[in-house]
Amino acid sequence: MIPSVLPTYNRAPLQFVKGEGAWLIEADGRRFLDLGAGIAVNALGHAHPALVEALTNQAQNLWHVSNLYQIPQQQALADKLVAHSFADTVFFTNSGTESCELAVKMARKYFYDKGQPERVEIITFEGSFHGRSSAGIAAAGSEKMTKGFGPLLPGFVHLPWNDHDAVAAAIDEKTAAILIEPVQGEGGIRPLPDACLKGLRDLCDEHGILLILDEVQCGVGRTGKLFAHEWAGVEPDIMMVAKGIGGGFPLGAVLATEEAASGMTAGTHGSTYGGNPLGCAVGCAVMDTVADPDFLAEVNRKAGLLRQKLEGLVASHPEVFEEVRGSGLMLGLKCKAANMDVVSAGYDNALITVPAADNVIRLLPPLNLTDDDIAEACLRLEKAAAQVSAA
Ligand SMILES: *Cc1c(COP(=O)(O)O)cnc(C)c1O
Repeated sequence: MIPSVLPTYNRAPLQFVKGEGAWLIEADGRRFLDLGAGIAVNALGHAHPALVEALTNQAQNLWHVSNLYQIPQQQALADKLVAHSFADTVFFTNSGTESCELAVKMARKYFYDKGQPERVEIITFEGSFHGRSSAGIAAAGSEKMTKGFGPLLPGFVHLPWNDHDAVAAAIDEKTAAILIEPVQGEGGIRPLPDACLKGLRDLCDEHGILLILDEVQCGVGRTGKLFAHEWAGVEPDIMMVAKGIGGGFPLGAVLATEEAASGMTAGTHGSTYGGNPLGCAVGCAVMDTVADPDFLAEVNRKAGLLRQKLEGLVASHPEVFEEVRGSGLMLGLKCKAANMDVVSAGYDNALITVPAADNVIRLLPPLNLTDDDIAEACLRLEKAAAQVSAA
């Protein structure tokens, strides 16, 4: 008999009842150290006082009105995002995959309005992940996500990861945009080298096409800059955001330049929930914390500390791990043992990590975890590794 919850997930037998900072408390009372943060969502950990305050204050006043009316919290969050990024304008969604939908529509509409309606194709990359909507699965293109779901949204060209010549050769008169994650998340924490991102920007400029960045996982302070592309010193035309921006409240956004967004006039796109007062009140509190340069400096310091300890862990357990990869607090341990065995051994030691493709385990801790949390995380990882190598 089918379970009452549609069985599309492989869930671990863990049930958390409370969260505090980087810690999750299981129904049986065990305290788990959370290096997953709900897949890079709980950017400020669990029950952060500023987020709880923003949410409860807003909840006592007004939750939802729809986009038929002015929403000052939405205006405030858009202003903050514009002030701290390349973007001139923002559309709010409720998830990453909805941000993907709009990014694709926006790029196509841009060329349609410019009198180049044949420019509909979007170049994407092997190993990418852009969500589970029809545009998202067609964009990523892997059989795992697309098989059995009938005709896919056309207009995506899939290329190998990290092959500049293949991109240069693929651009033609039908190309509208290049869509890429600056650091692949689900694909196994694969950072795109800065020079490659610069190269893609140059190709876009040369051909007059748009660069769309998917910063759903790597954005909002995760890599130690507010947005990951800042490391490469280049700017996109359109950017997808979600996950960390809501700190646990379902919130996403598409950021764009005035030029790229020029086709999106009144009536061309919409969302019932997108940018509602509750979500945006929380988003503002997240931005007020994460966009602070002192906060980002701390993310970088902690990332350095964690990474150094992880290098030591890999060196002392070459039978379990191959390498550390990633950027900031978006780190991956490429495993030699099966990655799920390492994740499970983590659970046995009350430690949460997240598996990814390419036999990687992801460490995506709350950005404000403490130095003590980092030390404890490494002790638990060490125990988990010892358990895997003894098995
Ligand atoms: C999680 C993720 C998405 C999809 O976000 P949802 O909120 O699950 O729809 C898209 N792109 C990237 C890079 C992601 O990590």
